[in-house]
Amino acid sequence: MPICIECRYPVKTLWTQYSGAGDKSSGHNIRLTVCKNCGCFCDKYVEHDFVVLFIDLVLIKPQVYRHLLYNTLMKEDDKLDTSMPRLGLLLLLFDVYLTWARVEKQTDSAPVSDKGTALSDFAQQPIVSQYLFFLILCGLSSLAFHLCIRFLSTSRLSPLVAIKLLPCYTRPNSVSTALLVSSSTKLFPILMVIWQYDVPAAARSLGWAVVANNVEALRILLDCGYGVAALLTTIGAVGRWIVGRSVLWLVELQGLDSMGEASIAADGKALWAFVMYVREWAGQLVAG
Ligand SMILES: [Zn+2]
Repeated sequence: MPICIECRYPVKTLWTQYSGAGDKSSGHNIRLTVCKNCGCFCDKYVEHDFVVLFIDLVLIKPQVYRHLLYNTLMKEDDKLDTSMPRLGLLLLLFDVYLTWARVEKQTDSAPVSDKGTALSDFAQQPIVSQYLFFLILCGLSSLAFHLCIRFLSTSRLSPLVAIKLLPCYTRPNSVSTALLVSSSTKLFPILMVIWQYDVPAAARSLGWAVVANNVEALRILLDCGYGVAALLTTIGAVGRWIVGRSVLWLVELQGLDSMGEASIAADGKALWAFVMYVREWAGQLVAG
């Protein structure tokens, strides 16, 4: 059942079609339902296009998450929406690009003595093998992230459920949907069209923006507090990091990520730059 995105009150329908519907000349002829509980439109996003949705998603508006998670993408029997595997693949490919670009930059900027033989061997490999390697690395890491959070929030064996921090949620696929949708901030640079920023800093800022989005999406979906949502995201991130590390360790490329590892100061700076940039960008959009 759909909900009012302002106050979560359940509603029967989000809009009503009245006479003349389907007649292109007279517009959509759709009337949005007004919520009985709060008096606002139940779901204004029904009428908005993808770009508006995406911008509000990047700006972490809870309403847009409620619209997507409850009113659009959630199916009665917890089936994944057909667009989700495609979004997952897109995010994966983008992840591969960001990781690869970052590693390449690191390898280029590191002094020869720090590179180690394994790393320079790796750079000598054919492009296809390098691509496949990053594809597997990012694929397994993302899988670990999803599985950790799905296990913690939906399994009866979850320690968080056992200590009653979180009620056992029965829809694992909805959890993945929430994580995928909230990770789509990663695609934000596509809207910027021209990438003027140096890749490592941009990747780091995006990383933080994605974390904030993940936390918000989990909070809204599971109806829990920020603390629990942040804890879930952190454990998922740790799982992802362990898996990523293990893959690098298996192929003896341990040096790959520790070089130029993110310092807290650099992270803070990147986060701040991102916030300022979004504000400036949103400002221009409103003014234009
Ligand atoms: Zn309402």
